[in-house]
Amino acid sequence: MTLVPTLSYSSYRTYLKCPQRWKYLYLDKLPEAPRGYFTFGRVVHSVLEELVRPLVVPTARRVGEAESQRTLDEWHAPAPPPVGEPWMTSEELLALYDRSWTGEGYVSPEEEGRYRVLGRDLLLRYYEHLLRERPHPVAVEEHLEARWNGIPIHGYIDRIDRTASGGLEIVDYKTSRELSNGDAEDSDQLSLYQVLVESNYTEPIERLTLYHLRSLTPLRTRPRDRGVLLTLHDRLGTVSDGIRADAFEPNPGRQCSRCDFRSICPEFRTVPPTDERRLKELVDRFEALREEEHRLESELRRTAEELHRAAEDLGVHRVPGTRSVAIRRREEAWQYSLDSVRPLLEQTGVSDRVGTGTPEEVRRLVRDPAVDPEVRRRVAETGARRVRWYWELERESGA
Ligand code: SF4
Repeated sequence: MTLVPTLSYSSYRTYLKCPQRWKYLYLDKLPEAPRGYFTFGRVVHSVLEELVRPLVVPTARRVGEAESQRTLDEWHAPAPPPVGEPWMTSEELLALYDRSWTGEGYVSPEEEGRYRVLGRDLLLRYYEHLLRERPHPVAVEEHLEARWNGIPIHGYIDRIDRTASGGLEIVDYKTSRELSNGDAEDSDQLSLYQVLVESNYTEPIERLTLYHLRSLTPLRTRPRDRGVLLTLHDRLGTVSDGIRADAFEPNPGRQCSRCDFRSICPEFRTVPPTDERRLKELVDRFEALREEEHRLESELRRTAEELHRAAEDLGVHRVPGTRSVAIRRREEAWQYSLDSVRPLLEQTGVSDRVGTGTPEEVRRLVRDPAVDPEVRRRVAETGARRVRWYWELERESGA
């Protein structure tokens, strides 16, 4: 049994995509090769953290969730720079960017060069935007932890802003090429951050935002309702139960092409040469039996149909063979088209009597003396009777 670690959004998402990969990363702690686009995102985030930090005016935090949390009285940061005054020059910003830059993970100097120019452009444009529209952050790159109904979670929040009406806005920067409103609405990451901020701060959360840096566009959504959070909690529970039960099955898919663990993953492990022949024979035999099974299934169907036609012509239900008697059985069922039944039930105000609308529920309603006979008659008329014939074998006594 594995002890479940505190789950972050990326840990949760990794497990959902492939539990085996989660194990390699979070349990075995195997390193991954650096990737240029991840390095790029990290550098831009760290520069943004330094750029926005001087503007932070903290707010009170809940105490009790974790004793080590800071309260407002313990905060001794300098006052933020007066509005209208740049707190960092563009030259200082670019110097910070140059100091933070690392070429890790880029496939070529050309690729690194392209990303480096993109980062400069993106940061400068965002810096100018901040000079025009100064945010009111209460925290940047904040590490928050919580125990959400028994599940320990944590995350680093890029920024928490105070809104004009005194609430909080959670902001997550995105350096990706494309981003849509749907991404913000469906983001489990923002939902998890909402839970973390709610557990650690006292003010209400008013907005959840993915900030698309390439287009300087905030994609804002309202906080999630309890139903959405409950669904996420259930999924986190499934992940946490899976980890506890050592369920680390590989889940092959498109992600495998970018996975660093292909060479050790059981999904792609090859049969050792010493076992090749034995296993090849088993596979061939399995294939032959499968084909035989399909052949027998279709022959069985054809024989039953022929027997049925002959018995129908002769009007018999029992046909003796050498050792057994074949007995023709009849199964009858009424089926109702839900599309036809639903409007009728709604019109007559009895739709709550059929629950999910299974044929059994509709049949029960048709027989129910408490329901208006006219409604029952009309519902019954939408039904169609289905008859199925099948054969059973009975051994002749003494055969
Ligand atoms: S190669 Fe595919 S199945 Fe194997 S660990 Fe990686 S993602 Fe999972």
